[in-house]
Amino acid sequence: MNRRSFLSGVAAVGLTGCARQLKTARARGPLTPLAPYDAVPKLMPVRAEVDRIFRVTVCLRPFRASGPRLDVERVGDKTVIHNYGHGGSGWSLSWGSSSIAVEKAMQVGERDVAVIGCGALGLTSATLLLRAGAKVTIYAKERPPEVRSARATGTWSPDSRVALTNSVTPDFPALWENMCRRSFHTYESYLGMAGNPVEWTDRYTLSDNSPAEDLASSRREDPLGFAHYQDRVADLTPRNLDLPPGSHPFPTRYAQRTSSLMFNIAAYSRQLVNDFLVEGGKIERVEFHAPTELSQLAQKVVINATGYGARALWKDESVVPVRGQIAWLIPQPEVNYGVNYKGVYIMARRDGIVVQQGLSDMVGYNDANETPDRAAAESSVQLAAQLFGQMGKAG
Ligand SMILES: Cc1cc2nc3c(=O)[nH]c(=O)nc-3n(C[C@H](O)[C@H](O)[C@H](O)COP(=O)(O)OP(=O)(O)OC[C@H]3O[C@@H](n4cnc5c(N)ncnc54)[C@H](O)[C@@H]3O)c2cc1C
Repeated sequence: MNRRSFLSGVAAVGLTGCARQLKTARARGPLTPLAPYDAVPKLMPVRAEVDRIFRVTVCLRPFRASGPRLDVERVGDKTVIHNYGHGGSGWSLSWGSSSIAVEKAMQVGERDVAVIGCGALGLTSATLLLRAGAKVTIYAKERPPEVRSARATGTWSPDSRVALTNSVTPDFPALWENMCRRSFHTYESYLGMAGNPVEWTDRYTLSDNSPAEDLASSRREDPLGFAHYQDRVADLTPRNLDLPPGSHPFPTRYAQRTSSLMFNIAAYSRQLVNDFLVEGGKIERVEFHAPTELSQLAQKVVINATGYGARALWKDESVVPVRGQIAWLIPQPEVNYGVNYKGVYIMARRDGIVVQQGLSDMVGYNDANETPDRAAAESSVQLAAQLFGQMGKAG
């Protein structure tokens, strides 16, 4: 998730797209009381206390300016289909991106296929290969919960740090939309399952600045020009709705609400692994040090889903690390919403309340340090404490 995604409901003010402007006009029109059936429900505050932090994790987004790598390469007698470099959108785009990789793999005509990697992209590639009738083995150095994917926020964020506008090919926006829609529709099939691997939750964007001021500031903080394509799929999720003062419990001048998909990654990745194993897939723990080592594999077709690991394994320096840190608060079953406030994103998952600092796209760019910063984690929780301490006192 990035701040621009949160602001997407207002991003079209004065910008392109007729439909978008209509949608925005509805979202930004005069504040009228919410219909009774649409009222903000009673929201329990997050207990944002530093001593409720039970872990601090760091993950590196595998960012490529030109977008994810999905081409086919010959290595010795192997056909390798790449499926890596999804930035801050790997979970969101996983099913769609992996569908493309699997179609390319199945076209080779071999029915025994290897997948390298057991993160979001490896697991979805492997599952789709099984469904397409292949025999599949995953080879990976780590599997969940050790993989970097397990340290993600867990929200629908399909255009978060996925590419730079000026570095993509002209067909990339349409490809992105294709991946995005295919993923979204696959996620629908994980709703309502035991353990809630995937669910819809409400999100609130809170600010003392107007949405237009926040949008202008997010643009100033983006010298590289990260690509944002949410307008292309605005029909998938509800619009951002301005909440009139007094209709919500937050102490900020402005509040907006939308709803989005949340991935409870502990339950969801366990479900993916279990489904894969139950359907006959195999997982082997292997580390590769160079592409030539693929010659040891029995399979002739390989999907390479090594994420940030591709930078070292394939010597692909187009993969840039974008560091992100999360402070995890003890879960509260009574809290089931997310909040974006002063650059801190708080989202209540079943497996912990995520407190993530730095929604601006540039935060963590080209920083490969994976050591947790406890002081920064505490400061983001203290900022959350200011918000929740004031909840219910003003609007
Ligand atoms: C803080 C943070 C928050 C995020 N939040 C979200 C979010 O809310 N929504 C979203 O959609 N995305 C989010 N992302 C992005 C998402 O986490 C990544 O895009 C995604 O995890 C990438 O998945 P992957 O499968 O490509 O890589 P990984 O999860 O890193 O998996 C790579 C796999 O390859 C294996 N591997 C690597 N190298 C080798 C090797 N040499 N030999 C053998 N095996 C190897 C690894 O062991 C692992 O199994 C977030 C990222 C960060 C950092």
